[in-house]
Amino acid sequence: MPLSPYKRCFCICLLLLATPLFAVAEPTLEIGKGERLLVLAPHPDDESLSAAGLIQQVLQNGGTVRSTVVTSGDAYVGAVMQDSGKRNPSAADYLNFGEKRLEESRRAAEVLGHGFVHLDLLGFSDGSIYSALVSHWRRNNPMRSEFTGFDHVPYGQAEDRGFAQDGQDLLNELIAILRDTKPTIIAFPDVMENDSDHAGLGMFTLLAVHHWLQQYPTPHPQPKLLAYLIHWQHGWPTGSNWGIPQDWSDQPLSLPSDLPLRGHTRACVALSPAQVGLKRTALAEYKTQQRIMGDFLSAFVRSSECFTLLKPNDGNRIEQVLANWRHVRKAFDNHPLSRRKL
Ligand SMILES: [Zn+2]
Repeated sequence: MPLSPYKRCFCICLLLLATPLFAVAEPTLEIGKGERLLVLAPHPDDESLSAAGLIQQVLQNGGTVRSTVVTSGDAYVGAVMQDSGKRNPSAADYLNFGEKRLEESRRAAEVLGHGFVHLDLLGFSDGSIYSALVSHWRRNNPMRSEFTGFDHVPYGQAEDRGFAQDGQDLLNELIAILRDTKPTIIAFPDVMENDSDHAGLGMFTLLAVHHWLQQYPTPHPQPKLLAYLIHWQHGWPTGSNWGIPQDWSDQPLSLPSDLPLRGHTRACVALSPAQVGLKRTALAEYKTQQRIMGDFLSAFVRSSECFTLLKPNDGNRIEQVLANWRHVRKAFDNHPLSRRKL
């Protein structure tokens, strides 16, 4: 029997209301008891932006958390100009800024874990990850920062003080961390990130996981590989380029629809209001970043954190991953966001 015009309109309205909800809903990521979470971050603040809620949930479920921040984020020129009050900051200003950002990371980890987050501050130069991957692989040819003038880690509070900034040493460091931690969950930047250090660390992670599993006696562990996204295009996430921080805490994070799925799946962690509040408090510790990009940071303080789930053997396909990344990267290289660093 045909529906009356009123009933037909009612049904269409219901469908329109329901469709977006089903379209954006991602499966919930299950956090087991006693997980060992390793979060890998290119810069101070990426660990909190991507996984502050995940960190809290793993700890609350009796698990352990190790957070490794690879660089000091010392080459964010606009922020160093703001911090130093100089139009042409000196090498000492960049070093002072790097020390501040490392200290901010320490305080954020304390907020999230109350002493129970094992924090590694490797202290590499901002911009060194991608350089180490593509042009400074050997120890006798380390990457020298054009901002601080150092080709090795200069920071007193860094784990890797004195380490040469080269690809082989960084890879060895990551493999050692994997071997020591034996993570059951690894959160790391997606190789598709629209930032060279982020994408570079994504590739280093896949390489390190590949080597670690090769060295591991069989049967291999099957860690969950959670690729997070911080930098994309078109003002993602909503509000990240609005100029003024907004409160998005009652809205979930949705990965961008044009982020290629690549045959993987996605899942999200739902944050309680208390967990969202602690995430906001942790990010508030990044005062050098709040001053210059509070809008961007606040856009990640949402009721969920979402990830692309890779398979553990994706490290075996590193050549394919690199080829895929180079193809996408071409489209991004001239985008203004690619010059905006965290
Ligand atoms: Zn970053």
